[in-house]
Order: sequence, then C-alpha cells, then structure tokens
Amino acid sequence: MHAEDVPLATIAEEAGTPVYVYSTATIERHARVFSEAVAPLGDVLVAFAVKANPNAAVLATLARMGLGADVVSGGELARALAAGVPARHIVFSGVGKTAQEMIQALDAGIGQFNVESEPEARLLSDVARQRGRTAQIAFRINPDVDAGTHAKISTGKSENKFGIAYDRAAAAYAMARELPGLQASGVAVHIGSQLTDLKPLEAAFERIGALIGDLRAQGHDIKVADLGGGLGIPYDRTLPDPPTPAAYGEMAARVTKHWGTRFIFEPGRLIVGNAGVLLSRVIRVKQGVHQPFVIVDAAMNDLMRPSLYDAWHDIRAVAPDGKRMIANVVGPVCESGDTFATGRDMDKVEEGELVAFMTAGAYGATMASTYNSRPLTAEVLVSGSRWSIVRERTPIEALVAADKLPDWL
Ligand code: PLP
Repeated sequence: MHAEDVPLATIAEEAGTPVYVYSTATIERHARVFSEAVAPLGDVLVAFAVKANPNAAVLATLARMGLGADVVSGGELARALAAGVPARHIVFSGVGKTAQEMIQALDAGIGQFNVESEPEARLLSDVARQRGRTAQIAFRINPDVDAGTHAKISTGKSENKFGIAYDRAAAAYAMARELPGLQASGVAVHIGSQLTDLKPLEAAFERIGALIGDLRAQGHDIKVADLGGGLGIPYDRTLPDPPTPAAYGEMAARVTKHWGTRFIFEPGRLIVGNAGVLLSRVIRVKQGVHQPFVIVDAAMNDLMRPSLYDAWHDIRAVAPDGKRMIANVVGPVCESGDTFATGRDMDKVEEGELVAFMTAGAYGATMASTYNSRPLTAEVLVSGSRWSIVRERTPIEALVAADKLPDWL
C-alpha cells in the first residue's frame, strides 16, 4: 500500500508507528471537487472546518488553494492565521466564545462571527465597541431538523446546545440592530456531521431561505448565508455511498436560487477524511474465546472515533497476502472501549505487520490525547514521491516535564 508514490512501509520504518499519513493530492482533489460543486451558487467562500484537521501543513495546503477557515477557538484562529489564511476569509463559530477570543478575532480582522446566543451578541457588542471595531455577524439558527446522523454529531435539533431557536431569530436580529459594534448581515446554519441524506439539509436550507425573506421584510439587510458543513463520506464500503458533492451542490443551488446572498460553506470531513490513514503495527495476536485479538500499537487515544461514536474504519493490511481472518482489533489502552473492530472479516495479519486504518484524515489526530501517558502521534504529509513529518511524535520526556511538583514534595 502506498500514499501517492511513497510506500507506507517506508514511512513506518522511518517515522515509527502509530503515524497519521495524509495525501496532498487527495486533499487538493477534494477541495477542488467541493469548490466546483458549489461554484454555480455564485459568490462563494469555502471555509475549511479546522476542527477536522488543524495540522499546519494541511491548513497551508488548503490556504494556497484559496480556501478560508471555519474556526471554533482562539487556538484554531491562531493556527489558521499562521498557515496563511487571510483574516477576512475566517469565520468564527462555536457556542462558547470568550471575551478574550473575541478580542483576538476582532483585532485580527476576521470576516464573520457566527453568534450562537443573545448574551453572546451582547458581549461581542461590548468588546467590539471597546476595541473601536464593527463585527460582521450571522446568527446561527437552529432549524429543529433531525440530521439523521449519530446523536453525538447531530447539532440542528431544538434540544441541541447549538444556535438560536428558529422562533427567536426575528427577535435576536431586532436586538442586534440596536447594539453598537455589530452588523447583523448574515444567517448561518449547520445541522450535523457525517450526513448521508440530503433531505434534512434541504429542509434546513429551506427554513433559512424563509427566514431570510422574513428578516428582509423587517428591514434587515441580509447579505450572507453560511450553510455550514456536514456532508458525509464513505467509511464502510459495504454501505451505499453518501450523496456526492455534485448532488449536494445542485440541491443547494436549487434551494438558494433567489436568495441573492453571498454564500459560505464549512466542509471539514469531506476535504480531509479520505485523504488520511492511521498507520499502525501489530504488537501481537492474542487468542480469544471466540476470535483472536489483534493488538495494534494505535489506541483509542490516537483515534477516538470508534470508542466515541461506534464509528467504522476499514482496517487493511499494508502488505496483504490474500488470506483473511475474523478478529477483534484493539489497542493497548486499559479500557474495553479501546476496541477498533469486533468480529471483523479482514486481511490476515500477524505480529510485526502493518495495518492501515482507512479514512482517518478527519477527526483523527485532532482528537488525540495522551491517555495512558501515550505520546501524541506523529503526522506525515506526502506529495508525490516526497514526504515529510509535519508533526513530531511528542517525546515522553516532554510529557513528564509538563507536570510540576509543588514545593512540599
Ligand atoms: N461547521 C460547524 C459549525 C461545525 O460544528 C462542524 C462540525 O461539526 C463543521 C462545520 C464541519 O462539519 P463536517 O466535518 O461534517 O463537514
């Protein structure tokens, strides 16, 4: 198995395992395909959702292609700016922005704040006034639509913490009009992640279209519609493929035809998910009561999605010999939840061999922790026959040195 022209075995040998490996060509292709799919909408900013993969090399690759960034923290904002994303192409989402983060974003001159509550709007107004600035804002509207995805990545139902209830939207815009330092020129929506059906997205967009009409009738000058991210990607090849970006773009163009706004999209997973694998080595194969346990050197702290969302990742041998096995694939962490697959029909692997967790470029390294005092995994970016370590594995010494003893010990 190769990443572009580089054998994965070479990377494992030289960079060690576990290691995330990303393909530049695939990242670029996905960014291009998505941008082309939404281009018919006219004036469009594609703002990559940094949370999906905040590695500087990934962000710089996308910034060079002209993508903006959707950030949800001061840390992500700093990373996007450092990677060369122009401030005006940055959108700040997130349900709990602090005053400090607002100052950071206002001083940087970002393009838009997606405001998620009335108190947040009031705080942003105060901060903007103190800094002598005007914040362009969109209220994130919760359209109360069931996205039909995993409950932990569903964000557009009324019981979710995100956004302002649809029925309160008109009052929120009326309030914002009276607040100094704010220009409420946009409407934003994002109903969830890994969506495999366009119908909930279409329902949400239609509600936003109706709201834009109502707001304009009340005298608000709505210029921007931020339609979020969320389009799903294939993880399990035995399931039907999610809708294509082209189908998504056609639906969005049809629904928004008469809106007369600029558009922002915030795809994350779609751009980087299938551009990355997590490469891991089999530590040993242990006999189980029903199936063998393949114990690999990656664990739930490196790739949380299976334990967090019961997510599926294809697991393939890097050098398959054609034989198959039914096995449980687990990491070394002391939790039963540290299980990547149960009773999986997969390539036969033995101690010392390499496996690749497929579709691991999104919500992989970014969610990693040092649980069980395991170092943060290294990351590699490949481009053709070149490859480079774009994040070093955290040295154990750095983990130990980060703790400080109080003076009584
Ligand atoms: N925008 C917002 C506000 C989000 O919360 C998310 C992630 O859930 C995204 C965009 C990116 O979603 P996805 O990676 O599914 O495209």
